[in-house]
Amino acid sequence: MAPIAIQNASELTSTDFKQIITKSNPSVTTMKLTNTGIENTVEKTAPSITDNDPTTPINELDASKLIFERNNSPKAVPEPNSPELWAQNVCTDHMITCSWTSSAGWSAPYLKPYGPLSLMPTASVLHYATECFEGLKLYRGYDGKLRLFRPDRNSRRMLNSATRIALPEFDPKELQKLIEALVATDGEKWLPKSRPGSFLYLRPTMIANDNHLGMRRPNEALLYIIACLFPSFDTGRGTAGLDANPALREKERLGLKLLASKEDTVRAWPGGFGFAKVGANYGPSLIAHGEANARGFDQVLWLLGNECDITEAGASNFFVVWRTREGKVQLVTAPLGDKIILDGVTRRSVLELARERLNGQLEVVERRYTMCEVEEAVEEGRLLEAFAAGTAYFIAPVAKINFRGTDLEISTSEGDSGKYAAVLKTWLKEIMYGQKQHEWGVVVEERQLDA
Ligand SMILES: *Cc1c(COP(=O)(O)O)cnc(C)c1O
Repeated sequence: MAPIAIQNASELTSTDFKQIITKSNPSVTTMKLTNTGIENTVEKTAPSITDNDPTTPINELDASKLIFERNNSPKAVPEPNSPELWAQNVCTDHMITCSWTSSAGWSAPYLKPYGPLSLMPTASVLHYATECFEGLKLYRGYDGKLRLFRPDRNSRRMLNSATRIALPEFDPKELQKLIEALVATDGEKWLPKSRPGSFLYLRPTMIANDNHLGMRRPNEALLYIIACLFPSFDTGRGTAGLDANPALREKERLGLKLLASKEDTVRAWPGGFGFAKVGANYGPSLIAHGEANARGFDQVLWLLGNECDITEAGASNFFVVWRTREGKVQLVTAPLGDKIILDGVTRRSVLELARERLNGQLEVVERRYTMCEVEEAVEEGRLLEAFAAGTAYFIAPVAKINFRGTDLEISTSEGDSGKYAAVLKTWLKEIMYGQKQHEWGVVVEERQLDA
């Protein structure tokens, strides 16, 4: 079947989009690519996007085919708190790459020296934002082991994001194995046992590298995984403390300050792609983020619609704890069903832990809620705490929200945090750093690359 030309992508609704995918690729049922349905969906890697010789096998993503190429000029690992760490541009010695074409499917993945990619100036990603990514961390536990936190969730979300922007499918279990292969190789050196409580930031990425300016589903893509040094934005026992950046330390101690988005600035909208971790969500938000920073705020609190629904804070999910007028304590966050917000792994984990361990103390509520409701709760002294939750900033208590020129002050009763944010953060850390054994903490065995 010939690919269907997209004449004017800006006019496509999400329903059109589903039809296009289903028409051009009958083995894919995008309707099933919801958060709950992904388990059952990956059968074939986009076998019929273009005319194929039916006898040519289409290869699935297969981590067992991984080819190793050792880096013979490895770098030195920067010291904790060094300026290189804060520059956030140092990656480990290796990366994984894997290419895909619509006619052959996935090639054998490569683990090879970290280095530049080669792209043609016409590459689809450079023009049409055919890019998606993930962010997760590798933790060095206090028991000496390396752990990933719920990497199955990130891998499935990556599939969800990729298929939203016409990038190829893959089995998320294979992506998880590739992530594990990279950190098994670079973990020992870059996250030494002598530095328990530290982490690396992992960035699986997929781009369409089709050498073709036409508006069409890409026929070539590249998956890659890199591991980067990342400073710790929390004040715990992590080796990458905040001493190197006193300004951030001050913010952390005082809690985040959020600037609510203006009426004319929207991050995501119904029928859009706010639920997908695609690059196209982030570039256009940088002006608002920069303005917020210039005015002394840490993040934008993204609102949507005439009633100012609260969606997310920066690239983190957002939670409030309030007491209702009836006296019930509730943990409230925006719902996933509207497909406006990202299905954060941290968000999901906070909700699951709260339901399991704070049952009886508070009620967990996922629903649309508005800035107006938060304003009233603050005025009536019912807003108990607010926090942002995501891999990068972890659990970050919020101390202030500026909404249309007025500052709403939020209590941080435990010094730098509200009590629920503090206890949730502790529970998550215990799992990430191996102080409590839990199925979410996935241990990775370390491996020596042969010389
Ligand atoms: C990545 C991200 C989050 C947080 O997701 P985690 O899986 O918890 O890291 C929340 N919102 C947006 C917009 C994001 O990009």
